[in-house]
Amino acid sequence: MIIQPDQVPWDRAGATHVRLNFGLDGSWGSSLVPLTVLNPIRPIVEPVRTVAVFGGTHGNEYESQVALTRLCADLDPAELAGRVIIMPRLSEDACRHGTRTAVEDGVNMNRAFPGDPGGSLSYRIAHFVSTMIIEQAEVVLDLHAGGREAAYALCTSLHPLPDERRFAESLDLASVFATPYVFIYSRQLASGLLTDHAEDRGKIAIGGEFGGGETVSPTGVAHVYQGVINVLRRTGALPGEPEPILGRAPGSARIVRADDLADYVPAPLGGIWEPVLPPGTDVRAGQLLGRLYDVDHHPARFEPIVAHRDGVMIACYQRAVCETGRTLVVIGDELPR
Ligand SMILES: [Zn+2]
Repeated sequence: MIIQPDQVPWDRAGATHVRLNFGLDGSWGSSLVPLTVLNPIRPIVEPVRTVAVFGGTHGNEYESQVALTRLCADLDPAELAGRVIIMPRLSEDACRHGTRTAVEDGVNMNRAFPGDPGGSLSYRIAHFVSTMIIEQAEVVLDLHAGGREAAYALCTSLHPLPDERRFAESLDLASVFATPYVFIYSRQLASGLLTDHAEDRGKIAIGGEFGGGETVSPTGVAHVYQGVINVLRRTGALPGEPEPILGRAPGSARIVRADDLADYVPAPLGGIWEPVLPPGTDVRAGQLLGRLYDVDHHPARFEPIVAHRDGVMIACYQRAVCETGRTLVVIGDELPR
C-alpha cells in the first residue's frame, strides 16, 4: 500500500506495511520509502518502550537492508509487548541506485538531520523521521556498513555521554548485538547524523558497522538480524533473554574509544593504499599499518604509514585508490568493561 507520510496509522494493532510517497524534486514521480509499524495485538498494561530501527541510510550498505527487510516479515505482533518501527531502506533513492547519497538530490541522508519540510527529498524524509518517529521512540538504531571506503572492525557504535547512567544503559544495548567491538566515536567529525539528532532529543541512540566493500556479509547480517531481536528482548518488547550470535555472547565486546580527532589519521598524499593489517588489530606506536604508493614515478615512491600511538586500529581505509585527506586509520583505546 502506498500512502502519504502524514497518513501512517501508528496505533493500528498488528503489522502495517506501507510505502511512503515522497515526491521527487526534479522529475515527475516519487521515492516510495518502505515503513513497517508493528504493534501488539493484545492490550498492553505496562508502558513498554518503542524501538525504531533504520537501515539503508546509506544506499550502498546492505546488511541492514536485507536483515531488516526479513525482520519486517518475521517479527510476530502476537509476541510483541511494545511498538517496533522499521525502515529498512531509509534513503530509498540511494538504495535503488546502490549509492551512498541519494542520486535525486545528492544529499547524504546521514548528514541531513533533523531535516527540513521545505527541503529536497532527503531533507523531507529526515524531517518525517525526526518529527514522526524519533519523537515517539525511546530507542533508535541506525545500522550501517563501511560502504566503499571504510573497513571497520565489526562493531556497534555510540558517542560518549556525559550522563553515566545513560551511557551505561546505551552501552548495554549496544552490547547485545554481540559484535566483537563496541566503538565509542567522536561527535566532532561530522554533523547532521540521525543518531546525533536522536541523542539530542534524549533517546538511546545506537549505530553500527556490519560490513563493507558494497557486499553482503553473512556475519554482519546475522548480527543485525539477531541483534535487533536481542534489543527487543532487553527492552521487554519481546519475551526472553538476548542470545549469543554466531557463538559470541552478548556483552563480550571489546570497547574501543576514539573520540579525539587526532586519532583519525588522514592520508598525507593520494595514491594506491596497501593496508597490511585488518581492522580490529592491536598496534604499537611506530608499527607499520600500510603503504601509500605514488605510482606516477618508477620506481614508484611509497610512504609507509605507521601507528601514531599504541591502541586498537578500529577502522581503516578499504579502497585501493585513495585521495589526499581521506581518513586512513582510526586508532582508539580499549576501555575496561
Ligand atoms: Zn553508512
